[in-house]
Amino acid sequence: MYGAGDVRVEHRPDPKIEQPTDAIVRVVLSCVCGSDLWPYASMPATGTGRPMGHEFLGVVEETGSDVATLRAGDVVVTPFTYCDNTCDFCLKGLHSSCRHGGRYGLDGDVYGQWRAMQELYGQGRIKAIGVSNFYPDRLIDLIDHNEVAPAVNQIETHPFFQRTADQQLMGERGVQIESWGPFAEGRNNLFTHPLLSEIADAHGKSVPQVVLRWLIQRGVVVIPKSVRPDRMAQNIDVFDFELTDDETARIATLDTGHSLFFDHRDPAMVGQLGQVRVSD
Ligand SMILES: [Zn+2]
Ligand SMILES: [Zn+2]
Repeated sequence: MYGAGDVRVEHRPDPKIEQPTDAIVRVVLSCVCGSDLWPYASMPATGTGRPMGHEFLGVVEETGSDVATLRAGDVVVTPFTYCDNTCDFCLKGLHSSCRHGGRYGLDGDVYGQWRAMQELYGQGRIKAIGVSNFYPDRLIDLIDHNEVAPAVNQIETHPFFQRTADQQLMGERGVQIESWGPFAEGRNNLFTHPLLSEIADAHGKSVPQVVLRWLIQRGVVVIPKSVRPDRMAQNIDVFDFELTDDETARIATLDTGHSLFFDHRDPAMVGQLGQVRVSD
């Protein structure tokens, strides 16, 4: 498929056994699935195209040396994701979340993955599904074209990138905002910032405690990471004071309105992130 409505039939290179756990399967029957209709209706035109199809029935032609349960001539059916059937997720029956899994001919397909998770959610096998780094346009698109809305959207949220408009929109759509990088990883000298230090002193607290308190008062879920027990104790000790309206108004002036890390809407960054493989 090269774009919406643009489906071509082409020759493809013959597959080869690359890993000892691979099998080559000759497709005998396949079909057009509902999942194909989304890109058929809306996929942006591309010069390279991508293979369609999944959920096929086929015959095993050849197997790698480590394949013990299949041999040439076996008839097989596949779901639309592949998996190793041995990792912790697979052993719980959550094959579409396999640590070494993916989709045939198509990685980085957020909607395909979302629908696989949605299915597990519908079966009651997982309790909640969420996303990360979704800007409002992508979030609304995901919600409007799927059955289950994300429970959370984890986004960069700290005093220098406050995300109030994002939070408002998520609230309207029933999506909980969760902060990553609550301390901006120390950028802009957050830990010694004059305004934050002044507010911290006024409450006999530290700057990180003020930041956590500020996020919690805003209704932002925050999970600060620390491996040090004293920091963990400090991070949870934020429920015995309250920031005043004046203090939160002053913190609001620190918002720069943009990321201190990288821009998830920059095409070059999107391309780069799309190459990252969690299993590598
Ligand atoms: Zn399908
Ligand atoms: Zn697995």
